[in-house]
Amino acid sequence: ESGTEKKYVIGTDVTFAPFEFQDINGDFVGIDMDILAAIAKDQNFKYEMKPLGFNAAVQALESNQVDGVIAGMSITDERKTKFDFSNTYFESGVVMGVRANNDSIKSYEDLRGKKVAVKTGTEGYRFAEANASKYGFTIVPFDDSAQMYDDVKTGNSAACFDDFPVLKYGENQNNGLKVVTEQEKGAPYGFAVSKGKNQELLQKFNTGLANIKESGEYQRIVDKYLGDNA
Ligand code: GLN
Repeated sequence: ESGTEKKYVIGTDVTFAPFEFQDINGDFVGIDMDILAAIAKDQNFKYEMKPLGFNAAVQALESNQVDGVIAGMSITDERKTKFDFSNTYFESGVVMGVRANNDSIKSYEDLRGKKVAVKTGTEGYRFAEANASKYGFTIVPFDDSAQMYDDVKTGNSAACFDDFPVLKYGENQNNGLKVVTEQEKGAPYGFAVSKGKNQELLQKFNTGLANIKESGEYQRIVDKYLGDNA
């Protein structure tokens, strides 16, 4: 199809290291960014990345303003009613994070009367909603992870709920937070398209993912961000 080659528009989060974040040059990097680039190369398709924020990206997909979303997006049953997901590419689950020097908040029971920061539209948010009355805490919603983390670092919120690979990566990077709970049972990440739409893109993603796993490229990407020298 010379001249009319389709360029897919892909939505992502604004900051969700190590899956998507800006490097010192302002370029978007991370496991999701590298995986999609490797798959597009393998499957010979073009795309444009739109860092919209997680909730906005999911909504843009629902209203068909983007062709796909890659954003550390958990494959939940609820989302499966609206979206078609690729094969899984990363395991995850929600954990609780607190300020690195906070030794008083160690479990959900310690949250009584306190605030918990969460990101709108995420599994962390859903977990907070499901447990707020049981443990007696109040939810403070944010649009992006940077704001959510800042609210915990300044001490306004006692804790945040976020995905284990993200909070643990941040802790290892000395971002001012630490993980204090075991991982809740969660859903793995997948690439999403609108239900019944862009099925050829989904197929290419799955084939490309299998190919980069087979070639070792997938593991090289993960090691680049999570290996010993990360
Ligand atoms: N994995 C979580 C979810 O799907 C969070 C994703 C994100 O914040 N980018 O809800």
